[in-house]
Amino acid sequence: MESVSEAAIEARRLTKVFDGPGGEVRALDNVDLIIRKNEFFTLLGPSGCGKTTLLRLVAGFEQPSGGELLMDGEAIAERPPHRRPVNTVFQSYALFPHMTVAENVGFGLEMMGRPREEIGQRVERMLALVKLEGMGPRRPNQLSGGQQQRVALARALANQPKVLLLDEPLSALDFKLRKEMQIELKRLQSETGITFVFVTHDQEEALTMSDRIAVMSDGNVLQIGSPTEIYEHPTSRFVADFIGETNLLTGRLSERMASSLRFELDSGGLLEGQEDGGNETGARVTLAVRPERAEISREGSGLAARIEQIVYFGTDTHYHLRLDEQTPFVVRHQNRSGATSRFSQGEEVRVTISPDAIRVLQD
Ligand code: ATP
Repeated sequence: MESVSEAAIEARRLTKVFDGPGGEVRALDNVDLIIRKNEFFTLLGPSGCGKTTLLRLVAGFEQPSGGELLMDGEAIAERPPHRRPVNTVFQSYALFPHMTVAENVGFGLEMMGRPREEIGQRVERMLALVKLEGMGPRRPNQLSGGQQQRVALARALANQPKVLLLDEPLSALDFKLRKEMQIELKRLQSETGITFVFVTHDQEEALTMSDRIAVMSDGNVLQIGSPTEIYEHPTSRFVADFIGETNLLTGRLSERMASSLRFELDSGGLLEGQEDGGNETGARVTLAVRPERAEISREGSGLAARIEQIVYFGTDTHYHLRLDEQTPFVVRHQNRSGATSRFSQGEEVRVTISPDAIRVLQD
């Protein structure tokens, strides 16, 4: 068990049940989770998996149906939202349209009754932090979407919360701005040292920004880990499939050798692997292989496959193969400059997969 003193937020068997028109909805189902101080923590999962509900419980906008929620080791269920050291940034920036940018950023401090001079200085510092120096006198409608989201961030950071909750804050921005703001948010988090809890359904966003990710599905946390752990070592079919592209192969753990294992695939052929995923010899298994961890060649002893389609993406090329009628398989090759594909559609090829690239899923 992790040291609790490291925990900014701890959920213990946290449960939230809503009464909907169609009956009960278990939005969170016995969630155990530790979010450490000063980390960029992401809740990732498809729509409806319970991410926003978890944020709203931390913020105090909803009450748990069961379990415990602690901040800095203290139970917070009884504390109203304004007495929690937490601020939230929403997708819709929720700025006050009749106030200037500076008034928006200083609003929380004003409510706390801070002296005018201190507010002025803090607002200047916050605007510099989000790179909006000199924008203080403008009104929100005189700013771009990205700038408005920066104002919302400055406002949320101004009273130095211990935890900042971010509910899909970038999803209203266009692709390029979104990429810029991802880097910006990461910088803000490391400069301020505030714990960020970020909600997204975008796996790439989660991988590029987070210190750790919790992958959620149906009110449950399926796996928690660093981006590399989650990407390289998914433990379930859901996580393997949801995070990045993956090839799933079914078969049987057919043989144990001195330092490796052999899998017999339903699509035909044998694969050598290194981990058994806790399975006995003879057990049925599902294997996951990332498209960039497989190679294709014209000859050799790999799995037999046929190229169905070749898709060029500039930096890389995707080969859509079929091992048999039921088994598609994608191989991704990085393109060297000027290189054209050595293979053509319809060609019969061999696929080789390094034993350390094969993950055995526990689903
Ligand atoms: P999204 O990415 O779409 O925002 P999410 O992962 O944040 O999804 P939640 O908003 O936490 O998901 O919702 C989890 C489940 O709880 C969903 O099935 C949702 O319909 C249900 N739910 C959330 N709020 C309420 C409510 N106030 N009343 C009834 N059901 C609710």
